[in-house]
Amino acid sequence: MKVVPILLPVALGQLYHYAVPEGMAVQAGDVVQVPFGKSTALGCVWDDDATPMPDIAKIKPILAMVRPHIFTHAALQTIDWMAHYTLAPRGLFLRMGLKDEYLAMPKRRVAKKADENAVTASAERLALNTDQIHAITALNTAQDEEKFMPFLLDGVTGSGKTEVYCAAIAHILAQGGQALVMLPEIALTHSMLTRFAQRFSEQVHVWHSQRTPAQRRTTWQHVADGKPCIILGARSALFLPFQQLRLLVVDEEHDTSYKQEEALCHNARDMAIVRARFERCPVVLASATPSLETYHNAITGKYQWLKLNARATGVAMPAVELLDMRQFKLPKGQWIAPPLLEALTQNFHAGAQSLLFLNRRGYAPLIVCRPCGHKMECPSCTSWLVEHRRKGALACHHCGFEMPMPQRCPSCLAEADFVACGPGVERIYEEIKDKLPDARCVMISSDTAAQQEVLAKIAAKKCDIVVGTQIMAKGHDFPHLAFVGVVDGDLGLSTIDLRAAERTFQVLQQVTGRAGRHKDEKYPSPLTGEGAPLGADEGEITHSQVHPHPSLRDTLSRQGRGEVCIGAMIQTYVPDHPLMQAIAAHDRDAFYAAELAHRQRGMWPPFGRLALVMISTPRTLSPMPCAKALLEAAPHMENIRILGPAEPTLAILRDRKRLMLTLHCAKNVDLSGYISAWLAAAPKFPHHTHVRVDMDPLSFG
Ligand code: ADP
Ligand code: ZN
Repeated sequence: MKVVPILLPVALGQLYHYAVPEGMAVQAGDVVQVPFGKSTALGCVWDDDATPMPDIAKIKPILAMVRPHIFTHAALQTIDWMAHYTLAPRGLFLRMGLKDEYLAMPKRRVAKKADENAVTASAERLALNTDQIHAITALNTAQDEEKFMPFLLDGVTGSGKTEVYCAAIAHILAQGGQALVMLPEIALTHSMLTRFAQRFSEQVHVWHSQRTPAQRRTTWQHVADGKPCIILGARSALFLPFQQLRLLVVDEEHDTSYKQEEALCHNARDMAIVRARFERCPVVLASATPSLETYHNAITGKYQWLKLNARATGVAMPAVELLDMRQFKLPKGQWIAPPLLEALTQNFHAGAQSLLFLNRRGYAPLIVCRPCGHKMECPSCTSWLVEHRRKGALACHHCGFEMPMPQRCPSCLAEADFVACGPGVERIYEEIKDKLPDARCVMISSDTAAQQEVLAKIAAKKCDIVVGTQIMAKGHDFPHLAFVGVVDGDLGLSTIDLRAAERTFQVLQQVTGRAGRHKDEKYPSPLTGEGAPLGADEGEITHSQVHPHPSLRDTLSRQGRGEVCIGAMIQTYVPDHPLMQAIAAHDRDAFYAAELAHRQRGMWPPFGRLALVMISTPRTLSPMPCAKALLEAAPHMENIRILGPAEPTLAILRDRKRLMLTLHCAKNVDLSGYISAWLAAAPKFPHHTHVRVDMDPLSFG
């Protein structure tokens, strides 16, 4: 009797053994149907494994072959590797790429109208610049040699990074290969789809959680059939059953959305690199503001560094000016300083579009009862409730709890008399509507129901002032945006997070980089000459004309009404902070060098390794005994430091009390191996106690 190990797409790490019926040929990667418990399940035939074989008499036979050759050897290896590294059950990774619904209907072969191989036929191509040509050649060479090779594609927003990987993808499609482009947000897949579809028509597929089951099935089948295609997807696309994966792209690779922190804790960017290694293909990490990890790998030569040195459109980077908020005394309930308001006003009168950026949803982050001082708190978390005035609700941004605005204070029972403290986007929207009543304003945040419509409205220049959260900082191209005002540049710096400065730099760089991305002959630049409008025939603005640029404010005062102010202003209380200085001077590399030196001194990532072990219990109990017992059970290792147990900022989350142990070690230590051995040998805890491991954590709260 032939017996094979099979992995089931459920929250289990172990393999199960099944007998192969007479006459059935199976091999690793085949999807089969097997009896499981009282029911049946899909499973994937796995490679040989150390899982001990059960008693022969207990082994049941495979019921049916569902589809052979679904997962390649590289896919199985990736899942094994990820499960080992993250300590998450293997079956959950398989589940991301294998569900009954993907196979449910019989495969229909739809006759394609267009010739599938006529890839590059449509639309005329741009004349690529030398940086772009160099990058494309490097990618194509790695792809032709079937070599694993990680690349950092590094260039400011608008430098033509997307154009570069599009060209590499065209090369791959022409050879019948498949490519995966990962994007940090579902909203970005929509705008990217438009751009890709123009070039690659029906070979582009989108994959994320909001697709319909029918769409998912079609895409899954297309990929599993090994047809040439491009998948534009969120992080889950990494687990699709690619047959011919020749290139992976992780766009906006610094984005923390790639890190999943719930059940299946992993970083999809890092896992894309793992998959590329097993697939033996290039992987491109693209960003204008790479993560320090990636940047460090580029500096040390671990990744090939492809630099695009200027905006492809020839437009210079916008001038960025810091507004020292210590200088301004704003009336209560107002947050827009006079120079910022002036820039917005002038741009409005000149017919140019502006963005007011604040990375905070809702109306106010804190609501206090005026008579008694009670702060409205989430019943399930250690966090304040945020007022969402449009909805008339209070909401917790951590657990999703929502309640209508109360009629009485829950503490002193006085009739509602609440003070809203601090601004969110809704409040800034109110302020600007009040100051510029004639301007057409829109607001956008993740709470906006009709995001696509609002984005389209902005792109079509049907509004003058956009008030928005980080949605506006990500990937999207807003061709008409001339000016960006950052309401609170320091937001995010206040956390104890190791990466607070890096994050803040990235957000500010990304959002200010949205200003004046495109040549728009209606907009003369105030940055050239003596504030004189740039004639349509005067050509491009070069870097040297911008450095050092005149102060935006000086320019404004010289300009008359009707002229556009291209650039960005950041309101900050710490204008001397190195990151603020770096933003204003467009000196990313100086900031990164200083940050790296700082990390190196403490042996923090990327020089060392971190892991969190989060222990939680229902809030009526305490995780402390378990945390202490775990700590005691930790094998002593000279080179691994364990800190804690400590309370995270969110000491209670979703009604669970939490404590964390932080592990810190050198880069070359197998921390995953250490933790799995430790947890396997540790005492068993009651069922209500959860122990979760987060390798390479990005948040510590
Ligand atoms: P990024 O991905 O770096 O933000 P994109 O690839 O989106 O940059 O390019 C920014 C803009 O510049 C796009 O409108 C694109 O069509 C244009 N572009 C890209 N490469 C060139 C080029 N070589 N010449 C002219 N325009 C270009
Ligand atoms: Zn909550």
